[in-house]
Amino acid sequence: MALTYCVLASGSSGNCLWVRGGGVQVLVDCGLSARMTGRRLEERGGRLEDVSAVVCTHGHSDHVMGARVLAKRHGLDIYATHGTASAIPGIPNERSRLLPCDGEVRLGGLTIRSVPTSHDAPQAVALRIDDGESSLGVVTDLGVATATVVEAFAGLDGLLVETNHDVRMLQEGPYPEPLKRRIRGRWGHLSNEQGAELLAALLHDGLQHVTIGHISEHNNTPDLARAAIEKLLAARGGQPPKLAVAVQHRVGEPVTLAPRASATPSLRQASRQLAFAFR
Ligand SMILES: [Zn+2]
Ligand SMILES: [Zn+2]
Repeated sequence: MALTYCVLASGSSGNCLWVRGGGVQVLVDCGLSARMTGRRLEERGGRLEDVSAVVCTHGHSDHVMGARVLAKRHGLDIYATHGTASAIPGIPNERSRLLPCDGEVRLGGLTIRSVPTSHDAPQAVALRIDDGESSLGVVTDLGVATATVVEAFAGLDGLLVETNHDVRMLQEGPYPEPLKRRIRGRWGHLSNEQGAELLAALLHDGLQHVTIGHISEHNNTPDLARAAIEKLLAARGGQPPKLAVAVQHRVGEPVTLAPRASATPSLRQASRQLAFAFR
């Protein structure tokens, strides 16, 4: 089973990504109600009964809202760092699994690597999911892309990356000033341009597919986010990865990653140099 994923929802009202590979099915985050999660899975031919776990990136409600019911009523294991787990009380002990802040867990044939991010939730992480043939990066909810993040996500086959806000829309929009400061700060969210910069650092010939997501409904539009990414891809030239835009209220199209051709030493070298440039 090749690594396949599908965005069930993306944005500040709820995030959920369905991942299949290595003989298991997992959700990354569950910021929808359990009922809505089940409904959206069914739209793409999935069933909650076939999902074994939720891997939570951090404890904000748009990422963990459905966790308790999914654990208690549907028997899903909940993987979370200590910091994230403290934000989701009521998970039965037998369903609670520790996700390291900077390390790996195995789930069936999937290796899930957690990477610390700069975000204002305790022990927030981004995730690299690998089935041995291809790997997917889930990199949303970060104020800045640190060198650690850039290094940890080199050589991906698929990427879900944040393009949260358009700087001008945020600036001129309705949010109170402290909230604007939080969003654009080092512990907030990536703007379209910052998302494009991160993608530029991770771009390589083997990157097959990019999904942009966590797009603000107040401070951004899917078209502005897409335009920022397309501008970067056009400037880079070559064969660009396929691009999809994940939104809040519609289930995305499933993406299946082809097994990677092994990365050449020169590519690895290039990504190390980029990581260095980001320090
Ligand atoms: Zn979020
Ligand atoms: Zn968050």
